Amino acid sequence: MTLTRREALKLSAAAAAALVAEALLRSKTGFLASAWAGPARASTMPTASRYSNTDNTLQGKESSMHQVATTSGLLSEAYVDGKYVLPKLPYDLSWLEPQYDARTLELHHDKHHAAYVAGLNAALGKLDAARKANDFATIQAVSRDLAFHGSGHVLHCLLWDSMCKGGSKPTANLEKAMKESFGSADACFAQFAAATKAVEASGWGILGFEPVSKKLMIFTCEKHQNLTIWGVAPLLVCDVWEHAYYLQYQNRRPDWVDAFMKIANWEFAGQRLAEVSGM
Ligand code: MN
Repeated sequence: MTLTRREALKLSAAAAAALVAEALLRSKTGFLASAWAGPARASTMPTASRYSNTDNTLQGKESSMHQVATTSGLLSEAYVDGKYVLPKLPYDLSWLEPQYDARTLELHHDKHHAAYVAGLNAALGKLDAARKANDFATIQAVSRDLAFHGSGHVLHCLLWDSMCKGGSKPTANLEKAMKESFGSADACFAQFAAATKAVEASGWGILGFEPVSKKLMIFTCEKHQNLTIWGVAPLLVCDVWEHAYYLQYQNRRPDWVDAFMKIANWEFAGQRLAEVSGM
């Protein structure tokens, strides 16, 4: 089966879970770390220095910049020398007080975020070992670990950059997008707060860019492990909902997957890779 480029893109768009995060991957330099650099560079963000609780100039004449990160934010520091790493906070622990106290921030970053980084590297190690042994007995659990810890790492990197002392106003490009997507910036704020408060148990409120409609959307993510690693761009997908194969294969999903592997369009995946990473 040969798909036209348009059909192929439509097909890939069906991987809706990763669509929003995919926007982060529109950079030319690849993978998650540099992904965040794309939108940041393209924006009208001022070239302020990094956040600093000790640099009083940030509270003075540069305060209108609200300590916006210079280039790409913490995701650019989230993967170093072949390993995911815990980036340093872009501000001192007490910088966000009184809204977010130092001890809470310290535990959140030093313990919880660090655990995601460790779990992510461990999952990758297990996958490496499984491939070498050609033994995928634990693949379900390890795949889940990869998504759980990977999403935790990415989302926490974004979280630290998502807060600054006293808050900040949207940049001009963001405000324009908010108006187009929600009617106004205030409507966006209201929806974001309402949606996030309504998350059942644990989760996230997430403002994202959906690249097909080119609109901003707000999502709540109750189990981030169910949503791949946020920021991953889907390159090739196989549908194993029963509707995809039951007429022909009934309950034999492995037969369907084996058949799919014979018709998998890796050329399209390569085109997608070039699009999202420049590789
Ligand atoms: Mn957290």
